[in-house]
Amino acid sequence: MTDQFTPPPSVGCRAAPVLKQRGQREVFCGLTGIIWLHRKMQDAFFLVVGSRTCAHLLQSAAGVMIFAEPRFGTAILEESDLAGLNDAHAELDREVETLLARRPDIRQLFLVGSCPSEVIKLDLSRAAERLTQQFAPKVRVLEYSGSGIETTFTQGEDACLASMVPVLPKTQERELLVVGALPDVVEDQMMALLDGLGVGPVRLLPARSLDVETGIGPNTVFALTQPFLADTHAALERRGATHIAAPFPFGEEGTTAWLAAIAAQFGVSDETFKAVTDAPRRRARAAIAQASEPLNGKSVFFFPDSQLEVPLARFLTRECAMTAVEVGMPYIHDSIHGPDLDLLPEGPQISEGQDVDLQLDRCREARPDLTVCGLGLANPLEAEGLSTKWAIELVFTPVHFYEQAGDLASLFARPLRRKGLLKHEGIAASDPTMREVAQ
Ligand code: SF4
Repeated sequence: MTDQFTPPPSVGCRAAPVLKQRGQREVFCGLTGIIWLHRKMQDAFFLVVGSRTCAHLLQSAAGVMIFAEPRFGTAILEESDLAGLNDAHAELDREVETLLARRPDIRQLFLVGSCPSEVIKLDLSRAAERLTQQFAPKVRVLEYSGSGIETTFTQGEDACLASMVPVLPKTQERELLVVGALPDVVEDQMMALLDGLGVGPVRLLPARSLDVETGIGPNTVFALTQPFLADTHAALERRGATHIAAPFPFGEEGTTAWLAAIAAQFGVSDETFKAVTDAPRRRARAAIAQASEPLNGKSVFFFPDSQLEVPLARFLTRECAMTAVEVGMPYIHDSIHGPDLDLLPEGPQISEGQDVDLQLDRCREARPDLTVCGLGLANPLEAEGLSTKWAIELVFTPVHFYEQAGDLASLFARPLRRKGLLKHEGIAASDPTMREVAQ
């Protein structure tokens, strides 16, 4: 099937020297993942054990309406808890009992650690064990950390999924496990493609509900849909499952390569592969060609933020004719990111971790046409005349697989298109009233 792809560059970036820096960094914390995970897992509840700041972050980021019954909440640690004057475990037990009595629809309860709970060393794993014994089999109680002490916000989903792996049942079946939360509409498209290829049975992590049993065993092969699932990847391998290494399914090329790697594992013929993928590949190419026109020949600089940076740089350079100046990732794992690095044309500085001031200096010196970064950096850079794309939007928007490939190119093209229009109208792109429109 490889003859259907654009051939890889003679030298990719897999062996390129990586600039590793540690210092001040600018990212959201892992609690952010609750915003998409609570929509995905219909019978789960995320109980953050944290401060009022944590509650504010969730409330404002999720934009929950007052009449909605959200599937997340915060057990607030008060000053007396932080000072060690109260028995936080007893209070947490009371909160959970009240919650589960009021919400009988909850089947999975995640206790989510935060900076404050970690500072006072509240042992949530002990709490999860105790509460599981109390509420099993109706409710499964797990715990993970979403604290800002982690490297980046997408590690919240990774930590959540990794916490589920040890409690999944054993199976000896040969099954494909697809790992990573996707919007339902995108997940349905993916399942239709895999079904067309005759690949199955296919299990999902996370599944939409606990009733869908997902087992793990030595015959399980798994494919990641998100490049930020390093802990989950390690937990699955510890359970004996085998990773199918592949570029991530962004753009036409990434999607085809991802499907081809799975197809090879399941013995799918070239004819079947072509029959299933030819039409959506053509549609994706046409959509990308139309949407990416403002990107052609432009340069892009990635700050480490969402952990999607390497696959997206591969997409922008190979399918949208951009040049990457620097591609920063919060962390790089060869077994997960290697296939995308193989395809990324040589040239950009690959960097891991962040010392934000030094990286800002490099960005200002390079003056890229487009900078992909977090919200905190975007406005100051826009004020300096640089066009920016908020990295977090790439996680909240459906961007995987063929049918979203044109939308993915559009997301990056929008700030450049807008800048061109403003220039035409004689308005400074750095005008504060215009910045929000940029995204
Ligand atoms: S977990 Fe930490 S970084 Fe995140 S909102 Fe709470 S205090 Fe802030």
